[in-house]
Amino acid sequence: MTECDVLIVGGGPAGATLARALHQHGLHVHVLDKATWPRDKVCAGWVTPAVVSELELDLDDYRRDNLLQPVHGFRVSLMGGREIEASYSGDAISYGIRRCEFDHYLLRRSGATVHEGEAVKSVERDGAAYVVNGEYRCRLLVGAGGHFCPVARHVFAARPGSTEVAVRAQEIEFAMSPEQARACPVQADVPELFFCTDLKGYGWVVRKGDYLNIGLGREDNHRLSEHVQAFCDFLREAGKIPAELPGRFQGHAYLLYPHAQRELVRDGALLIGDAAGLAYPQSGEGIRPAIESALIAAEVIQACNGDYTADALAAYARRLQQHLGTRGQTTFTDRLPEWLVRFLGQRLLGMRWFIRHMVMNRWFLHRQTPPLRLTGATGGD
Ligand SMILES: Cc1cc2nc3c(=O)[nH]c(=O)nc-3n(C[C@H](O)[C@H](O)[C@H](O)COP(=O)(O)OP(=O)(O)OC[C@H]3O[C@@H](n4cnc5c(N)ncnc54)[C@H](O)[C@@H]3O)c2cc1C
Repeated sequence: MTECDVLIVGGGPAGATLARALHQHGLHVHVLDKATWPRDKVCAGWVTPAVVSELELDLDDYRRDNLLQPVHGFRVSLMGGREIEASYSGDAISYGIRRCEFDHYLLRRSGATVHEGEAVKSVERDGAAYVVNGEYRCRLLVGAGGHFCPVARHVFAARPGSTEVAVRAQEIEFAMSPEQARACPVQADVPELFFCTDLKGYGWVVRKGDYLNIGLGREDNHRLSEHVQAFCDFLREAGKIPAELPGRFQGHAYLLYPHAQRELVRDGALLIGDAAGLAYPQSGEGIRPAIESALIAAEVIQACNGDYTADALAAYARRLQQHLGTRGQTTFTDRLPEWLVRFLGQRLLGMRWFIRHMVMNRWFLHRQTPPLRLTGATGGD
């Protein structure tokens, strides 16, 4: 039996960030992941400077062996409508990364003991401890296994795909041939976003060097593949993507923070990242809240001093709520009829001011929220 203080299920950005923070504070941390690494993750692969800062990423070190695409603007439109470019001078406003590289980099530098290629098959309570797969015994079990996290399902009774309203998304990423790269009009430092005309989601084309990432996500479960197909037809017609795409689109899902209802803590267990359902509502950005949840969890876990009861861990749920807001609150637009929201939204997406200040600065870049700075305060606030 392998004994540890903390067992983290999932070595994505959330799990790797928590593992690193706890390892640095001397806790005995193990990470269990079903994938063999490096592994890919269905994702557009853009991160904001806040993520770089919160992760204390040394960009020169990172870009030595990994693709790092600085972004200086976004081109935004309602699908088929006028394209408006919001460009920014000075430092990069975002970075394009490849998840197979980014996640591997974070997990390697965490310093934790990683068990890869090991899916969670069983979770049992044994006194105050949890035993996973009959092999790993821990005093605190952390679910960082993404939307379908086994800890969320076994310990928190989450039911992905049943009553939860999730964003479903499909994506493909591939290296363009030299001819395709020459012909591709999408600029590497200006990703393109295309809102669906019913405003239930958006598609994107993100170029990172000579890699092209194409995808579309919607917060409804109806005929996603047809929406993706129509989006690709539209992009081909506009000459933005090659006529033939190598391979198939991959699908995944995630919960938007205001609409998610997953519990965050129980005796001896907590959830972080997508397992907790934390993605930003308008953009679907999930890496930043995943990392922030891990940093907050790390501070609370240290303050717990080995007392991992739900009462002690509740500080994590409180602090996450202080940081991300209260779930389930209705907004002004929730009270308007759907047709009116659609009508207004379609007009606003044709306005340069709205694209820059609302869509980009607030929704996608979250410039109103500075990077998380932890105070080192105890968990009991
Ligand atoms: C199409 C798409 C595009 C996106 N684009 C962006 C974007 O551009 N920028 C952004 O910020 N966010 C984006 N997101 C959201 C982002 O990908 C997630 O929010 C982020 O990956 C969450 O990180 P995580 O560490 O919580 O989970 P994950 O990255 O999902 O990591 C979970 C880990 O758990 C492991 N695991 C799962 N099940 C088990 C099991 N049974 N046993 C053991 N291990 C297990 C997996 O192998 C994986 O390594 C996108 C999401 C989708 C679907």
